[in-house]
Amino acid sequence: MNRIIFATQNHHKVQEISAILHPDINLVSLADLGFLEELLETGSTLDENAIQKAEQVWAYYKMPCISEDTGLFVNALNGAPGIYTARFAQKENSLLSNNDLLLEKLLDHNDRSAYFETCICYKDTAQTKLFYGRLNGKIAVEAKGIKGFGYDPIFIPDNYILTLAEIDLDKKSEMSHRSLAFKSFEKWFLGQFA
Ligand code: IMP
Repeated sequence: MNRIIFATQNHHKVQEISAILHPDINLVSLADLGFLEELLETGSTLDENAIQKAEQVWAYYKMPCISEDTGLFVNALNGAPGIYTARFAQKENSLLSNNDLLLEKLLDHNDRSAYFETCICYKDTAQTKLFYGRLNGKIAVEAKGIKGFGYDPIFIPDNYILTLAEIDLDKKSEMSHRSLAFKSFEKWFLGQFA
């Protein structure tokens, strides 16, 4: 069994990925290891942030690890919030929640198309490798649903009429940006080490 640390403090991400990964890969979360610090992410791209997070965990545990960084890119806003997705409202000095701010910014726009993109970084003693996944869709006109996390209540994937927060977790896990990136990692990893 291959043991890999998942360098995230977000239990939703651990839950999503543990549900779909091959049984030969044993993901251990930072919470399982009792590592409670927030990881720094000060890069200017998803790739830089993912590498930065993997390097922090590698420096600490010297164990194979995987990290991920995700952004929501809205076309009418020239790709914002992008790498600032987690800190959108804070960066704009807004008292609104991230989701309400995004809905407000899109009030005058017809084009509501957007996509989530995830970059995954795998690091071990020999290599640092990146994998990607993307989910296309649009921003809803109002928040709906209580499942998932983050921007799920206002994101409608292409070919759906429901938001991600109205879709069951196993369905989201089949199509999500994060799952696609992990599936791509898994294919490579099992080809190398299984
Ligand atoms: P980070 O990758 O943890 O920096 O997350 C970036 C931001 O994107 C956070 O605000 C998350 O809540 C949001 N986010 C990441 N993945 C998802 C998702 O699958 N659905 C909704 N929001 C997400």
